[in-house]
Amino acid sequence: MNNLEKIRLELFSLRQEMGWEKFHNPKDLSLSIVLEASELLEKFQWLSNVEISIKINDEIYLKEISDEIADVMIYLIYLSDVLKIDLLQAVVEKHEINKARFNKGHS
Ligand SMILES: [Mg+2]
Repeated sequence: MNNLEKIRLELFSLRQEMGWEKFHNPKDLSLSIVLEASELLEKFQWLSNVEISIKINDEIYLKEISDEIADVMIYLIYLSDVLKIDLLQAVVEKHEINKARFNKGHS
């Protein structure tokens, strides 16, 4: 079992333990992804790329960013489960589409 599968199973058992299934519908999970992505974006609000490149050396700041990235991923895992979508397979397939699109423009 890979690490992603392991954490998926742990997320699902936490969901069951907490009784969150009733809240986990596609609309609210999609909303949650956007809200967590907004929290991620908030970490960079008002900062220039230069300021960010300096601030990123602060371990606490980087951990806050890491936590928001994780929140987005957690909701992606829950949403893909509810929709019975294999998340990794979806990424692989979309990557292939993007590669083909990119190669087309540059051939
Ligand atoms: Mg968050």
